[in-house]
Amino acid sequence: MTTEGTSLGETDVLIIGGGPTGLAAAVDALRHGLTVRIVERRAERAEYSKALVVHARTMEVFERLGCAEAVQGLGAKFRALHVHTMPGRARTRVDLIARRWGDTRYPHWLSVPQYEVERALERRLAAAGGALAWSTELVALAQRDDRVVATLRGPDGVERPHTAKWVLGCDGGRSTTRDLIHVAMKRTELGVTFALADVTTGSDLAGDEGHVVLADEGLLLIVPMPAPGVWRLIAQVDAATPALDAQGWAALVTRRSGFDLQVRSMGWSSRFALSSGVSETLRRGRVFLLGDAAHVHSPVGGQGLNTGVQDAHNLIWKLALVDRPELAAAQREPLLDSYATERHAAAEAMVRGTERMTRLLTGRRRVVFGALRRVAPLALRIERLKDMLGRGVGMLDLRTDGRPRLANPELERGVRLHDRITSLYPTRLRWNGEDLLVRPDLVVANPGELPHLAEVRVDHPGSAS
Ligand SMILES: Cc1cc2nc3c(=O)[nH]c(=O)nc-3n(C[C@H](O)[C@H](O)[C@H](O)COP(=O)(O)OP(=O)(O)OC[C@H]3O[C@@H](n4cnc5c(N)ncnc54)[C@H](O)[C@@H]3O)c2cc1C
Repeated sequence: MTTEGTSLGETDVLIIGGGPTGLAAAVDALRHGLTVRIVERRAERAEYSKALVVHARTMEVFERLGCAEAVQGLGAKFRALHVHTMPGRARTRVDLIARRWGDTRYPHWLSVPQYEVERALERRLAAAGGALAWSTELVALAQRDDRVVATLRGPDGVERPHTAKWVLGCDGGRSTTRDLIHVAMKRTELGVTFALADVTTGSDLAGDEGHVVLADEGLLLIVPMPAPGVWRLIAQVDAATPALDAQGWAALVTRRSGFDLQVRSMGWSSRFALSSGVSETLRRGRVFLLGDAAHVHSPVGGQGLNTGVQDAHNLIWKLALVDRPELAAAQREPLLDSYATERHAAAEAMVRGTERMTRLLTGRRRVVFGALRRVAPLALRIERLKDMLGRGVGMLDLRTDGRPRLANPELERGVRLHDRITSLYPTRLRWNGEDLLVRPDLVVANPGELPHLAEVRVDHPGSAS
């Protein structure tokens, strides 16, 4: 049945998709006092582990959203990464905890399955008075000057209109929102197929250390999951190889790494040909694209979920600020456009970076692969390079349109500078004699760029780094 029913009502924000990006956007929007409707096509949460690593900058966002502790409690810290350059003969161990992490409360990579992150966000959503509407999908969109009318098909199959000031397409790599606003995403096929599986093992491998194996047969990643004895295996495979069962995976791991993982059972498994791309724009009028709807890429580096959550955090405060009288009319459009420019640039950099890293690790050209095996152990002795696996991969030094994240030194035991900044409004911060404008996403803005709605003074003898 697809007759048009009565209106579903009106909200400030309509969010399409209940993955990590949509849920983070919904929680953030409620925190800012916006009214929200969030819809999800699926009937229930998928128990697929998918993205497995939450990085430091995302944990800082989760802290703002009020779910950092919950996510931390569901995950396990990665202690180290072993890079096997000559499998069975030579490997280099990089201690991830010992990196020079600097000013973050989350100096680690956190292994936590995506569905656990989604559940933690959903609990936050419920606590803030929101709810995810399951079995409800976007089927049409019409933009007007001052609103968007979306057609949503509910669990009963009836299509009903919903009116919102803003629509956020968080509906994944095959985004309906993106199609409906006629935005193209040009994808580059990387010519690499990955198979993956979550396996339960009787192995005595250190349960908090991961492995990158540069085998002749192809790349193998062995990633610890929080449950004891459970590992995510990711292997570069020939597109024509049949799907592997638990025994097949055990044999592949032994062939490539020399480990006997003693695989006992296999949970979720999948296989996909890698492609990457960024949507040509992330904004059309009142409709925005976030997360996988905006960018798709190789899972090497574990940046997907993290980038989506950070897209949401970049956008929501702008939607909350844009209609406030303190913001001059001439500043409104540039503020909304800044989401598209800032996050398009971040997505391009992330997509190109993961593309380069994937090609390097999976390249089958003998000369290049041989050079990688020789150079990697030497490179991994350089402290500054190893530190890239800390702050770099953790996105702490990632600049937003050239502007840095506000430093977060500890002011007193358990209290950091970020704790002193309201996360709802641009804030004028007087910090040890410096006058800074800090955005709600804790990016340092140019003075005068935005009106400040809060003011904080912090005098502290420590340095800001
Ligand atoms: C097999 C696999 C393995 C992965 N492994 C990793 C990894 O190891 N590390 C990593 O960082 N990333 C990984 N990823 C990527 C990561 O899962 C994504 O980057 C992340 O899920 C993006 O979140 P999202 O919320 O933007 O999109 P999604 O998680 O895709 O969520 C989008 C949601 O929108 C819903 N939806 C779609 N269309 C509609 C509609 N018309 N109406 C309503 N709802 C709709 C979908 O049902 C879906 O639930 C993996 C992905 C896959 C598929």
